[in-house]
Amino acid sequence: MKISMVGSGYVGLVTGACFAETGVNVTCVDVDKDKIQRLNNGEIPIYEPGLEKLVEKNVAKNRLRFTTDISVDLPDSDVVFIAVGTPPDEDGSADLQYVLGVARDIGKHMQNYLVVVTKSTVPIGTAEKVRAAVQKELDKRGVNLTFDVASNPEFLKEGDAIDDFMKPDRIVVGVDSEKAQTVLQRLYNPFVLNGHPIIFMDIPSAEMTKYAANSMLATRISFMNDLALLCERVGADINKVRKGIGSDPRIGSKFLYAGTGYGGSCFPKDVKALIKTADENKHPLRILKAVEEVNEDQKSILVKKMIDFYGGIENLSGKTFALWGLSFKPNTDDMREAPALVIIEELLKMGAKVCAYDPVAMQEAKRRIGNKISYAQNQYQATEQADALLVVTEWNEFRLPDFDKLAKNLKEKVIFDGRNIYQHKMMKEKDFCYFPIGSRPVLSSSFITYNNIS
Ligand code: NAD
Repeated sequence: MKISMVGSGYVGLVTGACFAETGVNVTCVDVDKDKIQRLNNGEIPIYEPGLEKLVEKNVAKNRLRFTTDISVDLPDSDVVFIAVGTPPDEDGSADLQYVLGVARDIGKHMQNYLVVVTKSTVPIGTAEKVRAAVQKELDKRGVNLTFDVASNPEFLKEGDAIDDFMKPDRIVVGVDSEKAQTVLQRLYNPFVLNGHPIIFMDIPSAEMTKYAANSMLATRISFMNDLALLCERVGADINKVRKGIGSDPRIGSKFLYAGTGYGGSCFPKDVKALIKTADENKHPLRILKAVEEVNEDQKSILVKKMIDFYGGIENLSGKTFALWGLSFKPNTDDMREAPALVIIEELLKMGAKVCAYDPVAMQEAKRRIGNKISYAQNQYQATEQADALLVVTEWNEFRLPDFDKLAKNLKEKVIFDGRNIYQHKMMKEKDFCYFPIGSRPVLSSSFITYNNIS
């Protein structure tokens, strides 16, 4: 089978490489010349564990190639996937200009029957717009070619993307023709030999499923973040509550971690887009609006704790803070909507300085933030002469640092932990002031004495 994957970003590149791994002939297309040139030079433009080897292997086997020209391999393809970005428009709705641009390109260059699949996350009704855009180009050409549209939302997680794609819990496919169903069933069969289902449904339901999944996960996170702040007030510990409720199989343990709010390229924009769809259809989703509101506030929670601790905004001016973790989550260099960006911006506005370290997102941070902050070569260097440490992303290497070294490096032994990764007992033993999310802080002996707390 031959496929064209249009858009070679986090989704297109991973899914293209994974399809190639099963023996399919894959052409990845992208308009970004630099990206394609790097890929053709054997360079992977994003950080995703395992991707480099997978790409290298399948390129060597001649099953995977990269081009900026969709017309090269589209005529021979059985399936074309649209995997381009769908960023939020100014009003929060998904901007479909890239998806529909690709649909027009498909109509211009297809030569045989094709299944045109939207893999990008798109609002309900987009497949019909894709169908119309392809047909319009065919009409302009005056050719009579048949094609089907399908919706195949992607559920991979950055950081685990290859495993998620190779061993999916489920594959969701929206179709309205038997022919398209047969083609996609064949293409995906190698991924469901473990017995997990391909769930075929109508196209609008498949489009909705993706938004529903991300919105449900975002809802869990915001619920826990909201509850965390109440826990702090009433003397409960959100981590214990999390374990208590997560062991109930009706609830499950995933996506229950309180922190600095959800970020990344998907949750924020997908929640916004579903809110917009609901408003347009005169059925406002009240729960989802609250989810978004809680999340916006949560991104500033560490800064709020800092203002409280230092006794006012003015007292943060001139201070330097070490910040561990810039990517929106571990195992990726993706900083789209990362809480670190909000925290850094707020601290800089208050006149504070930031010295940051991240195991893989430093280059991406330099591209986005430039020299407004300084960058350390390792996690400990970031803490040298800093007034406090902020933990923003829970990379493994931050989970059990050398606290004695930290104590020596920091001007004051203070940690604001946006990911709840340190044990309170350890913080007490090491005599740190420790501010987690969703439980009472640990105060160091000097802080207690100085502030006359009994
Ligand atoms: P991305 O920005 O990493 O990649 C998109 C790529 O499309 C870019 O390389 C861009 O140059 C290219 N492109 C744009 N217009 C093009 C055109 N006309 N022809 C060819 N290429 C074009 O985006 P992504 O993170 O891969 O996301 C793609 C879609 O998948 C989005 O709708 C997103 O919501 C969805 N999604 C993303 C993830 C994720 O974890 N990143 C997971 C599931 C679904």
